[in-house]
Amino acid sequence: MEFTEKALVMKTGRFREADLWVRLLGPNRGLFQAFAFGGSRSRRRFGGCLDAFNLVLVHAGTDRAGRYLQLKEASLVHGYPRLRTDLARLGLAANCLKFAEAVQDGAQSTPVVFETLQGVLELLEGEDRIPEALPLFFRARVLFALGFWPELASCHVCGKRLNDIALAHFGVESGRLACAECGRDLRQRVVLGREAAQTLQLLSRSDPDVWPAFDVSPAVRRECSVAVDRFIEYHLGLVWDSGRYRRI
Ligand SMILES: [Zn+2]
Repeated sequence: MEFTEKALVMKTGRFREADLWVRLLGPNRGLFQAFAFGGSRSRRRFGGCLDAFNLVLVHAGTDRAGRYLQLKEASLVHGYPRLRTDLARLGLAANCLKFAEAVQDGAQSTPVVFETLQGVLELLEGEDRIPEALPLFFRARVLFALGFWPELASCHVCGKRLNDIALAHFGVESGRLACAECGRDLRQRVVLGREAAQTLQLLSRSDPDVWPAFDVSPAVRRECSVAVDRFIEYHLGLVWDSGRYRRI
């Protein structure tokens, strides 16, 4: 079996002097790992492009016994050089990458995870004003795209519009939004003020290129963060622990 696919290099490691293992995220294959024999030496086949955060076009296939995947060639589609010189941007990118990796690990491929991560990298490369809450925005957008986020337009019981709800009640288990009157019995509730709920609603339907325009105060950011992380823990079984996501 052989294939050619565009993919983002998530991580690489050396396992013999000139050989690499490479973890990649593609729109169709999701997260996959392959060996690149001669990966750190062969400029003809790999062109020095097997570095984290590079978008590459890979040609890969399984070995004869079908035991592992092998990169036959790879070429650079797009690099993000600003990440290599700006540690703050690199940190934000790494945080988003770790979440994408945790979400896709062992899961069916979800093209939107790849596309949103690519959008984040383009933002970090080309935009001067980067929102501090970028990783939170990314997590919220991915959660919504995966279908775990409530319909945020109105209370699911009485239909009151979000703009008229002072305190929005989110049922983490049911994935539903209710007003204060209807939300008392929701299991595993998270209560959010109007601004935080509206911010999440905006995030749920926007792509990274418009995020620099979102002005989110630290207090609202904290509220959103609690809600997003509760959903991630309950529905994806992931918690942030010592700089990485851990399955619980
Ligand atoms: Zn209601």
